[in-house]
Amino acid sequence: MTTAKTSTALPDKNGHFGSFGGSFVPETLVTALGELTAEYEAAKSDPEFQAELDRLLREFCGRETPLYPAERWTEKLGGAKIYLKREDLLHTGAHKINNALGQVLLAKRLGKKRIIAETGAGQHGVATATVAARFGLECVVYMGAIDMERQHLNVVRMRLLGAEVRGVEAGQKTLKEAVNEALRDWVTNVRTTHYILGSALGPHPYPMMVRDFHRVIGVEARKQILVHEERLPDLLVACVGGGSNAIGLFHPFLEDADVKMVGVEAGGHGIRHGEHAARFQGGKLGVLQGTKTWLLADEDGQIELTHSISAGLDYAAVGPEHAFLQDSGRVEYDFATDEEALDAFKELAHTEGIIPALESSHALAYVKKIAPKMSQDQIIIVNLSGRGDKDVEQASKYLLAEEA
Ligand SMILES: *Cc1c(COP(=O)(O)O)cnc(C)c1O
Repeated sequence: MTTAKTSTALPDKNGHFGSFGGSFVPETLVTALGELTAEYEAAKSDPEFQAELDRLLREFCGRETPLYPAERWTEKLGGAKIYLKREDLLHTGAHKINNALGQVLLAKRLGKKRIIAETGAGQHGVATATVAARFGLECVVYMGAIDMERQHLNVVRMRLLGAEVRGVEAGQKTLKEAVNEALRDWVTNVRTTHYILGSALGPHPYPMMVRDFHRVIGVEARKQILVHEERLPDLLVACVGGGSNAIGLFHPFLEDADVKMVGVEAGGHGIRHGEHAARFQGGKLGVLQGTKTWLLADEDGQIELTHSISAGLDYAAVGPEHAFLQDSGRVEYDFATDEEALDAFKELAHTEGIIPALESSHALAYVKKIAPKMSQDQIIIVNLSGRGDKDVEQASKYLLAEEA
């Protein structure tokens, strides 16, 4: 590894992580983003805000989540000792509520009465609808029309929670278009409305703020591993869509030079144009939806089609802090294909009695490859970012096709 460049002081005041990040937005949003940044900084150092956040994380969301030694899987792979950080046990079934809760508290502070969000698979939409209901705020979620079909159950969940789900018919009718629509709404209604963005993406302050709300994952894991093992782990592994669960786990360990970190992107059908979402494999530097980062685009700068079996990893751009961490060499990025993720999905269910999200299964697929090559006195922590109940139907299609 190159010298461990520490980056815990980033971003700078304009949201730059080295040459990545920043804020590329229409003029109408500049003031709102400035207000949001100022309010966030004030909240961050306000003990009352932090106490309410902590209390709700505990009592409403179910923190802290266990750090679970996966004994049978460790034995089966025959190498490093594997711990699972159980974000799948949180309320609504994934890490996403850490951020949704933090942002809704901020919206309240800002006096905003209306919440909007984008969603791909529907997980962030459900987390947002949940916290909006908890605080009695109006909630509108933008979702691509194709995603609404694919993830019908989450549409029903959001509506039960009192949110309005607006289908987006533009372009590929998936996440990227939903983000565009949410940004358009925000420009129009910025006085009354807070936009709860769902990953460590978008213009400053979102990548920083979303990261900070998820840091609790790594802060807990660090404390827990010291209790279990009286030492830090050798390796951290997490899947990377926008990168929020990964940065949440990694960030509190960045200055521990001996802790290696790997982010795992979606390799889809393999690294060919339009068939994956691994931005560090054949991507390029560009600007998408407010931030400068690695993304998948063609020669003319047109955003390419992406594919992943897991909707949560199926996005053309990666969070700017990951672009920075890759560039500096502090974090390594690899990918897992659909098939490898499905294998790991099945294996964890069979050996540990835990059905993981397909997103998280990409991280597990990497562990499946690397753990046997490590020694038995080494330790891996893998972020189990969500549970797989939402994916059972999708997985069964593939698994049945396999059997046929
Ligand atoms: C949304 C989601 C992801 C991907 O988002 P990140 O911002 O990269 O964490 C990963 N896992 C689960 C379970 C998700 O719902």
